[in-house]
Amino acid sequence: MTPKIKLPENLHRLEDLAYNMWWSWNQSGIKLFRRIDPDLWEQVGHNPVRLLQEVPYERLSQLADSDYLVAYHRVMADFDAYMHPESTWFRENHADKEGNLIAYFSAEFGLHESLPIYSGGLGILSGDHCKESSDMGVPLVGIGFLYPQGYFTQKIAADGTQEAIYEKLDFERVPARPALDAEGNEIRIEVQLEARKVFARVWHIQVGRNNLYLMDTDVEPNDPRDRELAARLYGGDLETRLAQEIVLGIGGVRTARTLGLQPAVWHMNEGHAAFLVLELLREQVAAGKSFQEATEYVRAHTVFTTHTPVPAGHDVFPFEMMERYFWNFWPELNLSKEEFLGLARQDQPWGPSFSMTVLALKFSGRRNGVSKLHGAVSRRMWHFLWPDKPENEVPIGQITNGVHTASWLAPELYELYTRYMGEGWYDRLDDQSLWDRLLQIPDEELWKVKQLLRDRLIEFVRNRYSAWKREIGAPQEEVDAAANVLDPNALTIGFARRFATYKRANLIFRDIERLRKIVDNPDRPVQIIFAGKAHPKDEPGKAMLKQVVNFSKYPGLEGKIVFLENYDINMARLLVQGVDVWLNTPRRPREASGTSGQKAALNGVINASVLDGWWPEAYNGANGWAIGKVIDYDNPDAQDADDAISLYNVLENCVIPVFFGRDDTGLPRVWISIMKESIRSVAPYFSLRRMLKEYIDQMYLPLMG
Ligand SMILES: *Cc1c(COP(=O)(O)O)cnc(C)c1O
Repeated sequence: MTPKIKLPENLHRLEDLAYNMWWSWNQSGIKLFRRIDPDLWEQVGHNPVRLLQEVPYERLSQLADSDYLVAYHRVMADFDAYMHPESTWFRENHADKEGNLIAYFSAEFGLHESLPIYSGGLGILSGDHCKESSDMGVPLVGIGFLYPQGYFTQKIAADGTQEAIYEKLDFERVPARPALDAEGNEIRIEVQLEARKVFARVWHIQVGRNNLYLMDTDVEPNDPRDRELAARLYGGDLETRLAQEIVLGIGGVRTARTLGLQPAVWHMNEGHAAFLVLELLREQVAAGKSFQEATEYVRAHTVFTTHTPVPAGHDVFPFEMMERYFWNFWPELNLSKEEFLGLARQDQPWGPSFSMTVLALKFSGRRNGVSKLHGAVSRRMWHFLWPDKPENEVPIGQITNGVHTASWLAPELYELYTRYMGEGWYDRLDDQSLWDRLLQIPDEELWKVKQLLRDRLIEFVRNRYSAWKREIGAPQEEVDAAANVLDPNALTIGFARRFATYKRANLIFRDIERLRKIVDNPDRPVQIIFAGKAHPKDEPGKAMLKQVVNFSKYPGLEGKIVFLENYDINMARLLVQGVDVWLNTPRRPREASGTSGQKAALNGVINASVLDGWWPEAYNGANGWAIGKVIDYDNPDAQDADDAISLYNVLENCVIPVFFGRDDTGLPRVWISIMKESIRSVAPYFSLRRMLKEYIDQMYLPLMG
């Protein structure tokens, strides 16, 4: 039985606040919940719904009688002002377009650690997109899945083997409520899979002023296999994936319709959602249009963002499978089977297949990649769809990713920036001239905050690392050593992201003796924190993870290289705020954008990165370091060898001497100047604010009536 939330009358609106993710990007909201019971707050994983369900009522009545009320009223006033603004950026700039809704489809939404429905960068981007839309008053609704088992919890065995634990996400204990129609009834949609009907209920998550709707097939009277469908993000086989994508795309359009929504723009964030165009085509044909007219309609209302620079990363389904699932769909489009399958044909080594990306590219009016480099790679990759055009005229543009500033910026830095950029800076956060003022921050002040953030991270690492050692049954000395691991004054390098092999978490171990000399130097101590999950089916990724865990036991590296179990948004936040250097070593050009380095730079962390994804656009020679050469390799091994040498050179000749180059006051003056340049040059441009304005101008407005 789920405990009900019972609140003293004068604190009753805490429940509203808990069910609106707004609190999660407002420090005053976070503090208000944490103050209720700081230990419980940690135990419930920063989930305010569980906090309010589990905290003893006596504690709440105590607070209701204290100066807690002052903070409560202040937060509620801020919340109300946010929810009912006099104006918004969108209204000020595009008041005549406010009636145009954007439906944003994504397979994952990474909003906060308390809602584990994301697996990596794509989900974080979707979550940030929703939050910024709310902040700017952009009329946007998110549509996706609420995976009942969430993404997996990662356990690492003593030998470095990753184990994936799936826990069913309990809807009664997360900030989600059943979506209701105009009459107040719970919404249910249905799609057809092969010969059977599958139902989904719809959950509603409030993201500031905007709504997010997530479908869930774990309902009666679905078959067990269909109830399991939504169980794992990208977990199943190809057929499960096809079924999931039918629910996302076709079910998603039906969800919007059942809610009475009439979006002017349908945004497919990655190809997973591309079946939405089939449903939109079906609606148009059912309304009496020819297939040609329906196609024109769909192109006039649909936009597509591609995220994958690797051909094998795109979803394709064999024709045979498509036939089994769509046999009753093509007649509704007035198409023959051959015509239908031809809509998105892409031949694969194993036979003719239906490509989600081809479908999305062909039926959207606007298309983009997620960095300049990725735009160019995408134009080359999909040139065959526009054979009459020269490659540089292939109609795929680019909008470089950014991050939602308030979600990732350390609160102490928020305050420091306010002192130098002035109150109200957040409303103009993509204005470069504001950030130029940060060069005036005294070095002492910035360094003090940096040390505090590094200390906070190290405390977190010690807790987590010693808990892990205990869990794997390590001897007590090892547990104790883990509780004191890392040096608060050492140069601290962070590497945390999905363990996909192209990201090359193991690159730095290529010459282990050279690494040992770098790390094991008592005069200039260096330490590296690793974290990340491998996809449970990605055997090479899991092998790489195991390798990294085992390298960290190498004599001379032990205690200086730490792998943290179970990477999530909370850990990401602490890492990008607390380390000194953010290391990024993808095999170029396979990183479409990457965003974790942007989060790091915003917090004064300096990037050392291969010139891939977003970094070639940001790197200016004075705000961090570039690893490797800008050439196209045919031989990945040669590329790895070159990049590893470059990485060691950058660390030995640039990063380490600059970090330990102290003046007689003990401050690393040059280092601090690079920190400032990193913040100044990255924070405004690589923000979601700038990014969303580009989506509005290039993708959304041209489609709005
Ligand atoms: C930002 C973020 C990512 C994306 O990181 P990349 O370096 O861009 O791959 C993945 N996971 C989490 C939890 C994040 O916060």
